[in-house]
Amino acid sequence: MNFPNLLTPGPVPMPPEVYRALGEPMTHHRTPEFNRQLRSCLSSLKGVFQTDDPVLIQTSTGSGSMESAVVNTLSQGDEVLVIVAGKFGQRWRDICQAYGLKVHTLDVEWGQPLHLDNLKKCLDLQPQLKAVLSQYCETSTGALLPIKEIATLLKNYPSILFMVDAITAIGAVELKTKKWGLDVVCAGSQKAFMMPTGLSFISLSEKAWLANQKSNLPKYYFDLNRERQAQLSGQTYFSSAVSHIKALSAYFEYFNSKGGLEFSIQRCAELSLATREAMEHFNLDVFPKPPSPSLSTFLLPERVSAKKFRQHLEDKYQTIIMNGQDHLVDKIIRIGHLGYIKNQNLIDAIVSIGMALKDMGLPIRENQLKLAKLACQNTLKGEA
Ligand SMILES: *Cc1c(COP(=O)(O)O)cnc(C)c1O
Repeated sequence: MNFPNLLTPGPVPMPPEVYRALGEPMTHHRTPEFNRQLRSCLSSLKGVFQTDDPVLIQTSTGSGSMESAVVNTLSQGDEVLVIVAGKFGQRWRDICQAYGLKVHTLDVEWGQPLHLDNLKKCLDLQPQLKAVLSQYCETSTGALLPIKEIATLLKNYPSILFMVDAITAIGAVELKTKKWGLDVVCAGSQKAFMMPTGLSFISLSEKAWLANQKSNLPKYYFDLNRERQAQLSGQTYFSSAVSHIKALSAYFEYFNSKGGLEFSIQRCAELSLATREAMEHFNLDVFPKPPSPSLSTFLLPERVSAKKFRQHLEDKYQTIIMNGQDHLVDKIIRIGHLGYIKNQNLIDAIVSIGMALKDMGLPIRENQLKLAKLACQNTLKGEA
């Protein structure tokens, strides 16, 4: 089979350990062997989340954990503040609205930094707020939000829960759930966890579990309290996604063999730096401020359609990256740095991008291609 060079911010290429696990024969989930595997995954997740509070596994995509965060901690009529800096911020807002919460938004121009003063103003204007919801990395623009700083600011507002969609940030950038005081953190399997889409992970702080006791929003499948009881005893409440949990366990095998969280974050930093150094030779500007290491987003020149460019790159070079969304659909390209990306995958992608830009009529010379490739090679010190 011919695998395309996949560099999107999810799904991502997977290590051989994960492929092997997915090909194993089916086993039943109510067995001691499966219980051991699940417990081991739950314990490893705490390490990635940097917390000793339980991290739970749900059978859903990442958005399921976002919905779960809301319905398990909030109650009818609660007021929340959503930081909307892109498509995923809109998702938090939409989920909250779907459950009838009173939603205030702090709109940040897509790709621009969040100013903490503006957040502070919103907090002081709305004394009834029960929660602040944000992305850590806003994948639609590639911007990193100042989660640690927001968490510090929120220490002055002890009745507010801070919920963070860390789906493309966890494993790619420093995140200290417990130490920073993040009340809910959401993650998903097809990003830094290098496995297929289909599992989500969620942590709740002690404060969030207290809120859970009073929360009266409707919930059934995503009832986290019931799920917590089950997972503490090495089970999931409903049938377990056995193959996915085996794959997660295999991911952790890979992760630990490479040096764990430190390696994962370092690798992402290196891939993003190499990409940015290389793309400078094509005179493309980094779009977001500040950029997340999980993906690199570049502004294309006016006359190149990002949508057509993406398609051309896939058709002619079997290289898959993403263009933008909504008003940025035709303006930006997004290159993912999560997953099992070998150095050669990135180098090939960079050269293909250079050639595709040339195909689109940009004056890219042979020497620029060489320099971009060299910049990439020189920056990459480790290997996936
Ligand atoms: C991928 C992603 C999600 C989850 O999307 P699903 O399609 O539900 O997996 C949520 N937030 C961000 C920032 C993401 O990048």
